[in-house]
Amino acid sequence: MQRHLIAHRLSQFDSTPLSNAFARAAAMNNPIDLSIGFPEDDTPGIIKKAGIKAIQNGQTRYTPSNGTLALRSALAAKLELTNGISATPETVSVTPGVTTGILLAYLALLNPGDEVLLPDPYFPPYRDIATMLGAVPVLVDTFPDFQLTVKRLEPLITEKTRVIVINSPNNPSGAVYPEAELRKIAKLAKKHNLIIIADEIYEHFAYDTPHFSIGSIYPQTLTLNGFSKAYAMTGWRLGYMTGPSAIITAINQLQQYIVFSSSSIAQEAGIAALRYDPSKLTTKYQRKRDLVREYLSDSYSLAGSQGAFYAFVPVPEGHNDISFTHAALDKNVIILPSRAFSQHTNYVRIAFATDKSKLERGLKILRTLGKDLATPPITE
Ligand code: PLP
Repeated sequence: MQRHLIAHRLSQFDSTPLSNAFARAAAMNNPIDLSIGFPEDDTPGIIKKAGIKAIQNGQTRYTPSNGTLALRSALAAKLELTNGISATPETVSVTPGVTTGILLAYLALLNPGDEVLLPDPYFPPYRDIATMLGAVPVLVDTFPDFQLTVKRLEPLITEKTRVIVINSPNNPSGAVYPEAELRKIAKLAKKHNLIIIADEIYEHFAYDTPHFSIGSIYPQTLTLNGFSKAYAMTGWRLGYMTGPSAIITAINQLQQYIVFSSSSIAQEAGIAALRYDPSKLTTKYQRKRDLVREYLSDSYSLAGSQGAFYAFVPVPEGHNDISFTHAALDKNVIILPSRAFSQHTNYVRIAFATDKSKLERGLKILRTLGKDLATPPITE
């Protein structure tokens, strides 16, 4: 009898655009890597020390599934103060990163067949985890300005719609949604009785338009956030969410089975992080974003890039995302093809979180490539 080895849900994913780029990159000698989505910095010393102290003090056991009371209390205070979101320690749940938070949120909210409105381009787990669970990601095309608007959302709402995902500042476009439009989206969500999932992991990386938390005005919002980016803590795996108490109760129930507990050590470090001013790390990213504009705005359309550390740019005519990624790889620069993040196949994502001198070298190369429309496309 023929039995399957791997469950069918995995056959729905095509990770080849990214794995091909990474495989080629792995063979390169000292490449200029503009593909990475994490800060160049090391975790600040004071945060590391809190983690070391937790180990030395023997805080090495399971914690409650929803996180320690000390961290949840600090997070509730932060959410009130920084985001204007009403939260208590009981309505905060600590997760091992936002990525797990997405899985938990979808598991708690979506039945098979439910539709999730998702701005395209998107952070890939939002689409793939929905598909994995039998839910339906409905892509809201935000090209060419990358703004999520009521005008773009409303025609796609059906009786199966359950959730709108908002990710501002956005990965991969860098778009930041203004407060006025978020207020309109909140009204739309209320009219149709929809839940909003707001991923605010780049909240401290908004350079032009101020970041606004939709959870401060729309109570049916599940706000996801984490320590990875603002505190350079990607490896610690620490995130959190807050939202309506019934949803958080469901999330906590799921955490007992799926996570059991987030890292006790990371949680102690998280408390120290909340006392650290993230602008010490984040302000230099605005300078990097400005460099991207300085070098690339003559050769590329830079519609997003108001936040996060990404630029999502259309490739020169005669190329598609894969051929242009290869043209950049030939010049020792790693960037990522848009099809990993979008239905559009003529853009690339440039991550500018790397150190300034490498970034400048990479941008010079990309500027030349962008100007040189005659570069012959390399076939896939
Ligand atoms: N959400 C967005 C929009 C991201 O871009 C990323 C990482 O690139 C994450 C979540 C992952 O966060 P975490 O490290 O907390 O899992």
